[in-house]
Amino acid sequence: MSRSEELFERAKAVLPGGVNSPVRAFRAVGGTPFFVAKAEGARLTDVDGKSYVDYVCSWGPLILGHAHPAVLDAIRSAAERGWTYGAPCEAEVELAELVRCRMPAVEMVRFVNSGTEATMAALRLARAATQRDVVLKFEGCYHGHADSFLVKAGSGVATLGLPDSPGVPAALASLTVTLPFNDTLAVEELFRRRGDALAAVIVEPYVGNSGFIAPEAGFHAALRALCDRHGTLLIFDEVMTGFRVGPGGAQERLGVRPDLTTLGKIIGGGMPVGAYGGRPDLMRLVAPEGPVYQAGTLAGNPVAMAAGLATLRQTERVGFYEALERRTARLVAGIVDAARRHAVPVTAGHAGSLWGAYFTAGPVRNFTDAKRSDAALFARWHRATLARGVFLAPSAFEAGFVSSAHTDADIDHTIAQLDAALGDALAG
Ligand SMILES: *Cc1c(COP(=O)(O)O)cnc(C)c1O
Repeated sequence: MSRSEELFERAKAVLPGGVNSPVRAFRAVGGTPFFVAKAEGARLTDVDGKSYVDYVCSWGPLILGHAHPAVLDAIRSAAERGWTYGAPCEAEVELAELVRCRMPAVEMVRFVNSGTEATMAALRLARAATQRDVVLKFEGCYHGHADSFLVKAGSGVATLGLPDSPGVPAALASLTVTLPFNDTLAVEELFRRRGDALAAVIVEPYVGNSGFIAPEAGFHAALRALCDRHGTLLIFDEVMTGFRVGPGGAQERLGVRPDLTTLGKIIGGGMPVGAYGGRPDLMRLVAPEGPVYQAGTLAGNPVAMAAGLATLRQTERVGFYEALERRTARLVAGIVDAARRHAVPVTAGHAGSLWGAYFTAGPVRNFTDAKRSDAALFARWHRATLARGVFLAPSAFEAGFVSSAHTDADIDHTIAQLDAALGDALAG
C-alpha cells in the first residue's frame, strides 16, 4: 500500500469521502487521490515522492504557481506582525484600491473568506436592492455551495452527477430559475414572462465549472440590455475568471460592465479570500452603511490580504498575461493535435490561462453539449496522465489552469505525456 492509500484509508474514517471538497476524492475518474507533501512552482510532490506537473493549481488561485517567493515573503512578513486583528488594517484598503484600479466597475468592495460567501452576499444585496426574490442562473455554472445556487450547478455537483442537493428547501430552490448558457432567446423569453420578478442574473462570464465554455458573441451584451430594461441586476461571478482571463477579468475582455462582481481565488493568492463589489449605490446598502447585514470574524485578514496584494502585483509585470495566454494556447493546440492523431474527437478552448478540452466533436455551447463528451475515455486518460506525472482536474467537467511558473519546456513535456497517455487510455 502506498502512503497516499494509507492516508486515504485513515481519512475515510474521519472525513466524509476522505476529503474536504468532493472532487478531490477522484470518484469520477477512479483510483485513490494522491496526498501532497509539498509544492513549488508548477509542480506538486506527493507523500510517496512522485512529482506532477500541476494544471489544477489549487483550482484557480495560484496564477503564479506554488510557493512563489514574492508571495511567500509577503505572507511571512505579514504573519510576523500578527495574523488577525479584528480591527481594520492598511492592506484591506490597498487591496480594495488595487481591485478598483484593475476592475473599474468594482467601485466599492467588501472582502469575505470564500467565493461562496461572496456570491451568497451579492445575491442578498441584489434582492434587497431590487425588492425582488427570483434569480436566474445558467445550467452547469457553479457559484459556490450556498442553497440558492445548488440548482443545476457545475463543479462537483456536475462531476458526481448529483440532482439538486437534498437539504435545500424547495421553497428556496423555486426562486432560482435556470436556463442553458449561451441561449439568448430563452433569456429573452424568461424576461418577457417574469422580468419584473427577477432580482438578478448571475453568470460565470466564461464557464469554468463544467469544463471550459466560451460565451458566444453578444450573449453578455444581451444580458446587460435585458437587465437594464427590466431593472434586474447583472452579477458577473468572476471568482474564477477575475484576474485570470486578463488583467481586468472577463468584464474587461468582454467589454460588459456588471452591476455587481464576485471575486475569489486569485484575489487571495491561495489564502482564503473572496469579495463582492460594484456600484457604490448598491454597496452603500451593506452594513454598517446600510441595512443589508453581512460580517466576518476573519474578513480582511492581514495575511490573506498580503498574499492577494503580492499576487496581483506580480501580475502587473509587462507582458505577464500575454505570455500566460501564449503558453496556454500552445498547450491546448498540443492536446487537439494529439487527439486528432489518435482519431479522438475533441473540442478545446481557452481564455487567458483558463482552458478546457472535451472528448466530443462539439460544438460545446452549454452544459448539455458538455455532457455529450466521452467521460469514460476521460477517466482512463486521467489515470494514464497521472501515471505519467501530469495532474489534470479529476473530472471531465472541470477547467484547467496554467500558471506563470509553467515554462515552455513544461508545456512541451506535458503535451508529449498527454499524447502518450491518450494512447494508453485507448489501449487499456
Ligand atoms: C470556486 C468558485 C466559487 C466558489 O468559491 P469557494 O471559494 O470555493 O467558495 C464560486 N463561483 C465560481 C465561479 C467559482 O469558480
